[in-house]
Order: sequence, then C-alpha cells, then structure tokens
Amino acid sequence: MNNNLVDGFGRIAKKLRISITDRCNMQCVYCMPSNNTIWLEQDSLLSFEQITRLAKIFVYLGIEKIKITGGEPTVRGNVENLIKSLSSIKGLRSISMTTNGILVKDKIKILKESGLESLNISLDTFKPDRFKAMSGIDGFYKVRNAINTAIDENLPVKINTVIIKGWNDDEIPHFVRFSRDTGCVVKFIEFMPLDGTGMWSDELVVSKKKMIEIINNDFDQLSPLHNDKSDPARLYTFEDGKGVIGFIPSITEPFCQNCDRVRITADGKLYSCLFDKSSNNLKSLLDGGKSDIDIIKCINKSVQEKPEGIIKIIKTHSLRPTLNVMHTIGG
Ligand code: SAM
Ligand code: SF4
Repeated sequence: MNNNLVDGFGRIAKKLRISITDRCNMQCVYCMPSNNTIWLEQDSLLSFEQITRLAKIFVYLGIEKIKITGGEPTVRGNVENLIKSLSSIKGLRSISMTTNGILVKDKIKILKESGLESLNISLDTFKPDRFKAMSGIDGFYKVRNAINTAIDENLPVKINTVIIKGWNDDEIPHFVRFSRDTGCVVKFIEFMPLDGTGMWSDELVVSKKKMIEIINNDFDQLSPLHNDKSDPARLYTFEDGKGVIGFIPSITEPFCQNCDRVRITADGKLYSCLFDKSSNNLKSLLDGGKSDIDIIKCINKSVQEKPEGIIKIIKTHSLRPTLNVMHTIGG
C-alpha cells in the first residue's frame, strides 16, 4: 500500500488543514454568507477523538504539519484538548491554528502548553470602525490584545490580511510598519472567489505586483527571502532585515503546481483542493466502524484524484464568485 500521498500531477501532500467547526463569531464580508447561514448540526461534526484518529492516519501517510482552522476554531469548546492529543502523535512536526483572534487571548498560554507551535491571527485593518464594517463586530481591540499576548508569550504569530480594493488597500503601508515594528510576519492574501456573499469580482483583487509597487513607494525596496517552494506565501524583507512581508497571490500567481495540502471539513469531508467540487466522506467511514486500511484507501483515492487547482479554472476563464465557501472548507 502506498504510504506517500502522491497525486496525479506528482505533487506530494505534506500538510493537512482540519476545520473543526463551520461556525463563526464574525461575519467577514469576503467569507460568510450575509444571512440565514445554515450551520452543521453538532452531531455531524467529527469528535476530537475522530480527528485524532484521522490525524494519526494522515501522519502515517506522510503528513508533517497540521493546521487547525474553521469557521472560527475557538468557538468550539476546549480546543486546547485537541491540540494536546494531536501533539502526542509521533512524526508530526508542527501544529498551528488560524483564528480571528476574538476569543483567543485568554487561551494563548494553555494552547502553547498543549503543544501549539504557532498562531495565524487574521486582521484586515487597524481602524476600529472599518474592522466593524468588514467583520460585522466591534472587535478590533480584542484582536490587537490577542496579538500582543501571543507576542508576550513568545508564541510565533503571523498576521493574515485579505486585501480588497477600495476596502483596505490604503492600509498596506500600515501593515508593513506593523511587521517592521513587531517582527510579526504579515501575509497579504489576494481576495479569492470563496466568499459566501458572491461579492467577489476580479476588480476587487489587488495583485501581489500592485501591493509590491505600493510598498516600494513608501519603503526601501523589498528583497525576496529564500522561499520554501511549497509555501504559498512568497516572503520578502527589507535591506535592514526588519519585518517580513508575505504575499499569497492565489489569483495572479497561483501556486497550484507546488501545492502540498489537503483539507478536512468539520463534518469529515476530505477535499484535496480548495477549489474541488467533490469530496470523500471520512466521517461516514469512521461512524461505520471501518478499519484504518479502508480509510487509507479512501484518502489515497481522493489524493490521486486531486484536481490541478485554481490554475486550471483561471486557464479556462471560469473563475467566478463563490466557487466554494471558505468558512466551511477552512481556508
Ligand atoms: N476564522 C479564522 C480566521 O478568520 O482566521 C479561520 C478560518 S478563515 C476561513 C481562514 C483564513 O481565510 C483567514 O485568514 C481569512 O482571512 C481567509 N479568507 C476567508 N475568506 C477569504 C477569501 N474569500 N479570500 C481570501 N482569503 C479568505
Ligand atoms: Fe469567520 Fe474567519 Fe470567515 Fe471571518 S474569515 S467570517 S473570522 S471564518
């Protein structure tokens, strides 16, 4: 049996993103549907025990890094217990989590003690009013405090910033200054057609090229860092070495050729690609008492069928709003 997750394009999966809930305490304009969201039923979610069993199987199959995501992972109770059981898996090299930062401040110490190695905190603006307009809640200071706490606790923290033309592109220099002042990596993400509202249009996308132009106008020239090919973020610093800026140019320079990720939704569906329209239901195998071998067969099949990715959608000019919904698939 193949214990390397190789797909039909020769890419090898090394990273697994696990969404532990589709629910969220925010309603970001570029992510959540604006109303009447139908949430998954509690009993359709993978339990922490099921997630840990799947994670062990994935690590056996060559997965090295796991990221916990959502929805908002901190709205699910006792997420630290999950981190603790994942951190006992032999062969797993790192566990990280992506959060909107609203509820995480008081959990940072225990998450770190439980084995969390780094945190991505999403922040799209430094303006409290704009924060409310973009996310639906008055939470700017909570997120800022969470970032400070993570820095104080020496938990490596990266900032995820989705840039949308006309919404927050004027703050790119502020984020750069923030990275230079704090040492936190700031990753600018191009807006992807994975929003729940269908607002995406290519006119709202600010390209990596444009962002670099904006930064080079205000600062010394950016210089590329040695990049890990499989990391979708292209990292840069400045001549003085202060600050690290990343770009995730999913639309204008897709990284599909080097993609090494697979994803599990909160209800146990395995997606080999963010832009995949079909999935394999791992939860039904777990609930049905299937063996690890049956589960491995299903995972291998799913990975072998991994599509080429957004690159194909762009090539065929079929990019359109809401290809999949980010809060369910996990980002
Ligand atoms: N709730 C957590 C958060 O916001 O960090 C984790 C889940 S969220 C879906 C994961 C990441 O996806 C966040 O950094 C978010 O900004 C990003 N994201 C959501 N919708 C997006 C979109 N349409 N285009 C690009 N990035 C998006
Ligand atoms: Fe919630 Fe994260 Fe989506 Fe914002 S990006 S609505 S915080 S899941």
